[in-house]
Amino acid sequence: MKKPTVKGALGSLSSFLLFFLTVGFIVSCCMMLFVSVLSETMDLTLTADNIATAAKVTFWNVILITFLFKFADYIRRKIMVERPTRIITEATERIMSGDFSVRISPMQNSGMEGFNQIAMAINQMAEELSGVETLRADFIANVSHEMKTPLAVMQNYGKLLQEEGLSEEKRIEYSKGITDGSRRLSEMMTNILKLNRLENQQIFPETTEFDLGEQLCECLLQFENVWEKKNIEVDTDIAEDIKVEADAELLSLVWNNLFSNAFKFTEEGGAVSLQLTATEHHAVIKVKDTGCGMSAEVGTHIFEKFYQGDTSHSVQGNGLGLALVKRVIDIMQGEIVVESAVGKGTTFTVKIRRS
Ligand code: ADP
Repeated sequence: MKKPTVKGALGSLSSFLLFFLTVGFIVSCCMMLFVSVLSETMDLTLTADNIATAAKVTFWNVILITFLFKFADYIRRKIMVERPTRIITEATERIMSGDFSVRISPMQNSGMEGFNQIAMAINQMAEELSGVETLRADFIANVSHEMKTPLAVMQNYGKLLQEEGLSEEKRIEYSKGITDGSRRLSEMMTNILKLNRLENQQIFPETTEFDLGEQLCECLLQFENVWEKKNIEVDTDIAEDIKVEADAELLSLVWNNLFSNAFKFTEEGGAVSLQLTATEHHAVIKVKDTGCGMSAEVGTHIFEKFYQGDTSHSVQGNGLGLALVKRVIDIMQGEIVVESAVGKGTTFTVKIRRS
């Protein structure tokens, strides 16, 4: 907020003088017109004394009236302009210094609508910024936490590898531990970068028309090793010739994450099924598993970044998969819902527009 200065005081004085001279000039012209009309119509003879007295009275009147006007204007400006400007400036200065808790209360005087609109916009901005700040802080905390685990594992294996006289078997086991840890880190970084680019709209979907059934099968087949190893039964029911117009690479992220979770959270001997059906305007995809399922509480958080409901599987994930899935589905203006029961299994249903 600006402090009053000599320059400012001189400025106010000169603006008062300008105002006074203008009003004085206008009033004098009016008076001269009035007096000359009066003297002519009433046939009065004005002496120099008469004119001098009238001029003095008029002069002091002008001084008094302009002073009163200026004073009233000064008070009005103090209340209606300077006070709200000061409140708004102080609030923006606090926001600039990082205090996003600041809120401006609405000003009650009439004629304050304009300032109230600015105040509301500033309040909204502060709210948005504080949300972004919390997300940023949470994000950094989560990333650091997620990085620490694989780094600690890699450090341990690194130390073990330094031991003398290691058997070939142990050497392979420890180096595999290091490779797994670095793979996990690299997967996490890739996911963070993808999510970041999706959120900042740096990825512009490149849409083409393609057969959705074919894409789903291709993605599912990538998990053949996993389902064979875990002896999981896979069942597919795919309607033919369902075309969508979408970014194929982005959409394959969705299926890969849903399949990867289905196989990850399903125990040996379980079952995973994939179904593709279509309504007049939409393609409906269901990925169902007979795995561990999740509670309603977990279900409400699964699309949040870094959220992991079942931490016993945390070694194989980083809680970013479904956040990515949701972001892609949102970009495509589609829908994703989850139905799940603990111990029974989970079904993800995705609905996207068909072409
Ligand atoms: P991650 O799989 O890396 O933990 P995701 O974002 O893919 O992260 O999933 C978030 C959480 O949602 C998982 O930790 C898990 O608790 C829950 N979840 C997702 N898919 C399934 C599923 N098919 N069955 C049971 N729980 C699931």
